[in-house]
Amino acid sequence: MPKTITLQLSPKQAADEKFYLARAAERLGIRQSDIALARVIKRSIDARQRMAKVNLSLEIYIDKEPMPAPLNFDYPAVDNGTEVIVVGSGPAGLFASLRLIELGFKPILLERGKSVLSRKYDIAQINRGGDINPDSNYAFGEGGAGTFSDGKLFTRSKKRGDYNKALQTLVWHGANPEILYEAHPHIGTDKLPRIISNICHTITEHGGKVLFESRVSGFVVKNNRITGVKVGDNTIEGAAVVLATGHSARDIYELLHKEGIAIEAKPFAMGVRIEHPQHLIDSIQYHRAERGEWLPAASYSLVSQEAGRGVYSFCMCPGGFIVPAMTDTRQSVVNGMSPSGRNSAFANSGLVTEVRLEDFAHLREEWGELAGLRYQQLFEELAREHSGERQVAPAQRVSDFVAGRASKSLPRTSYIPGLTPSRLDEWMPENIGARLRSGIATFGRRMKGFVSDEAIVVGVESRTSTPVRIPRDSETLMHTQIEGLFPAGEGAGYAGGIVSAALDGERIADAVARYCKAHNF
Ligand SMILES: Cc1cc2nc3c(=O)[nH]c(=O)nc-3n(C[C@H](O)[C@H](O)[C@H](O)COP(=O)(O)OP(=O)(O)OC[C@H]3O[C@@H](n4cnc5c(N)ncnc54)[C@H](O)[C@@H]3O)c2cc1C
Repeated sequence: MPKTITLQLSPKQAADEKFYLARAAERLGIRQSDIALARVIKRSIDARQRMAKVNLSLEIYIDKEPMPAPLNFDYPAVDNGTEVIVVGSGPAGLFASLRLIELGFKPILLERGKSVLSRKYDIAQINRGGDINPDSNYAFGEGGAGTFSDGKLFTRSKKRGDYNKALQTLVWHGANPEILYEAHPHIGTDKLPRIISNICHTITEHGGKVLFESRVSGFVVKNNRITGVKVGDNTIEGAAVVLATGHSARDIYELLHKEGIAIEAKPFAMGVRIEHPQHLIDSIQYHRAERGEWLPAASYSLVSQEAGRGVYSFCMCPGGFIVPAMTDTRQSVVNGMSPSGRNSAFANSGLVTEVRLEDFAHLREEWGELAGLRYQQLFEELAREHSGERQVAPAQRVSDFVAGRASKSLPRTSYIPGLTPSRLDEWMPENIGARLRSGIATFGRRMKGFVSDEAIVVGVESRTSTPVRIPRDSETLMHTQIEGLFPAGEGAGYAGGIVSAALDGERIADAVARYCKAHNF
């Protein structure tokens, strides 16, 4: 049996393998040469003290003990398997497809956007203030919304086995094995595209199909059973349909609504993106002027209750960039991403508050279950009215936002299309703006320096979660009304983030397999 030990080290010592192996041997009372294999199984930073420490847990194999078997994913060939349609190549759709292959089914993966290579070009255009391709942007295209992101791999799921398998799947497809033991693993936007295209390659190599620029615009439903989907003038048939279109696919919600297929309005969250100079967050979190060479860019996670509702930070991107995440020119929507080295001069994070059903009750009569979606859209359009040309976003210094005064100028930003000073404190709906202002003031009391002239709020962060749920049966995981339709991932309202969407995709694939077997498909 390997021995497990945890060492508390300085950041420099934790980066020095020779040093920590010597320390481990000493702790175990063995010679360093007796160590046949040492695996880091967990690494976390404890920055509560003046001098930050790294807790490093190691699994030590001594001499000829049996080593762990190398990781191997043995996907079968599914060329002749039952065809299952998967709509959307985000984490939910990709992991559903991989799991379907493991189970012997042939996924036909339909993606409205382009492959990552062509998508990169469209994204560069958006950043340059060019046109927004409604099918190829930060939300749509190979890999979905997670491809050009920070690639944080966080989940609240308690199923560690499933979580570890998801991380190992990413490592198998090219992610750095460090994600297996980091306390807060992330991949980075420079690495994600290659991993995503490797996953698509696995799908096609084993007999599945991946079809880009294939936007689903209709469902083929007979006697309350779905038998296929429409892409342009073509009909594609399959034994079941996994609908994993993400929360930006408004046309899909509208289509379901129009076809009388049940959807439900649900609470969600909206707010702003907040950006600080990274050195400011480092100095607050590490209690010193300079973070130095060995510590990573610092992050934070904040939550408070303001006037009876939660206000919280979300999708923090240390050393990152704010990006234009709209899917259409009529909106102003921002989000965040970071490269693997998290080495930009800025720290950004979503700062959002709950939006409840009563906030959009006035839209219910006209919009029915799409009322929350409409409320979200109006918020984004309001932000657009206060924006500049193209993707120039409205922004205010954090100190001014909290104090309720105009910003005459703005500090430097990571947001490439540029910013225009705007009174976010005035034009945001009261239920959002007032809570954010008092929430930020609360955070400023906890993190001295958080409310700063050097920091900005940028409008708007509106796509943190979906305002619509596509209901599914809790046992079969199938749509409550349409047989063979399996809503999955974030857009269906059952996930939030890359890993939870991936895990939901896997679960849905298992449910599809049960359904197909029960019906001999
Ligand atoms: C900039 C940014 C940064 C983010 N950073 C992180 C992070 O660091 N960590 C994290 O956990 N989460 C992050 N997220 C959120 C994360 O990306 C999502 O939670 C996750 O991608 C949801 O997965 P999904 O598969 O459910 O949907 P999506 O990823 O949204 O994928 C849906 C896919 O369906 C396709 N599609 C839509 N409609 C159709 C149609 N009609 N026909 C065919 N295809 C269609 C879309 O093009 C898209 O590719 C970030 C999001 C953004 C935008």
